[in-house]
Amino acid sequence: MTRITIAKGDGIGPEIMDATLEIIKAAGAQLEIDEIEVGEKVYLAGNTSGISNESWDIIRKNKIFFKAPITTPQGGGYKSLNVTTRKFLGLYSNVRPCMSLHPFVSTKHPVMDIVIIRENEEDLYAGIEHQQTDEVVQCLKLISRPGCEKIVRYAFEYAKQQNRKRVTCFTKDNIMKQTDGLFHQVFDEIAKEYPEIENEHWIIDIGAAKMADTPEAFDVIVMPNLYGDVLSDVAAQITGSVGLAGSANIGEECAMFEAIHGSAPRRAGQNVANPSGLLQGAIMMLNHMGQTEVAEKVQNAWLKTLEDGIHTYDIFKEGVSKQKVGTKEFAAAVINNLNNKPTILKSVSYANNAALNLPKYQRKLAASKKLEGVDLFVHWAGTDPNELSKIISKIDSKDLKLTMITNRGIKVWPDGFKETFCTDHWRCRFKPSENHDINNSNIVELLNQAISQNIDVIKTENLYSFNGKPAFSLGQGQ
Ligand code: NAD
Repeated sequence: MTRITIAKGDGIGPEIMDATLEIIKAAGAQLEIDEIEVGEKVYLAGNTSGISNESWDIIRKNKIFFKAPITTPQGGGYKSLNVTTRKFLGLYSNVRPCMSLHPFVSTKHPVMDIVIIRENEEDLYAGIEHQQTDEVVQCLKLISRPGCEKIVRYAFEYAKQQNRKRVTCFTKDNIMKQTDGLFHQVFDEIAKEYPEIENEHWIIDIGAAKMADTPEAFDVIVMPNLYGDVLSDVAAQITGSVGLAGSANIGEECAMFEAIHGSAPRRAGQNVANPSGLLQGAIMMLNHMGQTEVAEKVQNAWLKTLEDGIHTYDIFKEGVSKQKVGTKEFAAAVINNLNNKPTILKSVSYANNAALNLPKYQRKLAASKKLEGVDLFVHWAGTDPNELSKIISKIDSKDLKLTMITNRGIKVWPDGFKETFCTDHWRCRFKPSENHDINNSNIVELLNQAISQNIDVIKTENLYSFNGKPAFSLGQGQ
């Protein structure tokens, strides 16, 4: 018996949760269930995170959380329960299998069978945003080595367990050389530990285009958070329906399983929703708990039911489907098929699933870190970079000198183009005048000088080298 926490959610949530639980229990799932309330009611009762402290305690105790979709009320101020749960519980890995069910569910991509593994905690989703000037806001993109190592290792371990042949990495490291560069570098490092699995890297733009056009060329794809968020929906949609995909959010201690779709409020209470997405989440949960036989039985029964043409409205198609059914009738049909396997679609076997080998992250030896300069970000409403360079050069010291100004990343001084559009947000790069060492006091001095010259510095960013290698971006055009 495994004790899990469930939340039936909002909209169609309770109906698809009841149907799913009925199916997996009939298949022999050994579960004890604690139910909690999350979502709309909790939000509207004044809890902006959509979940109470008591519910957190239950989730943390049971460690496995099975969640139906929830409705986030309209209007500002409500925090996304999904994002909070992933981050609070350290659910670093989001696994989303996207498989075509041709010819039973119409799709332009009949042989697609990919799994998107998305980093789930960092990247632009750290949610660290600031307005800095009248014209410019920023969002910090944070990528960490532990974050990269954990997700990339997860992808290779998953591929190994599932007998998949290749892991592809998508990044934009031709532009983001530090952040996406680290993700790609860690991918290359960890790929070497799995010589039996092919590996490749694609720049995300052409990779995404290729995935949308020729998904059969891909197997497992691993990527940072934002790209994974977008592309996992694309991948699910092009299999034929987002209503058929589930997802797993896995951490070192806890895990959460769900459907990828929302609460479809307009379909609620009518016994029409397709429970398949949540059922797919349940199958991943059963595999995660080691109840692989039950997972296998349910997946094969589900495939057989789709093959029998017993379809809910969202995938029903004249000529292909045989019977249009509601949520309850679909569940009953799957239960009826529990001892059957599909004959045209490929049946699954999870019996030999080995456990994933996911050692805890080991912090590396600290590199030798050297201060190489500083970027002062300045709010200035003028337009001519040459004029700004004269103002800023006034704070040059014997230690630090202005060497470059950029605007939105592009070098505008020295030798800028007059065509370059400039906002009121300027990065002024200071480097040591000669090859002597500098420290933080030099930067404080520089800031004091800036104050005395009425220069509006809105932030500073230290420039470092690690083990002798510069670890900051150049100005574009530098
Ligand atoms: P949605 O996924 O709920 O619905 C999109 C479309 O797909 C609708 O036409 C809907 O009827 C259909 N659909 C979705 N699931 C279906 C199913 N199982 N069977 C049949 N048809 C299905 O997306 P939305 O309308 O943008 O969002 C509705 C609410 O869900 C919003 O409040 C949103 O915040 C929330 N949401 C929650 C989650 C989650 O809890 N994980 C995820 C996405 C959206």
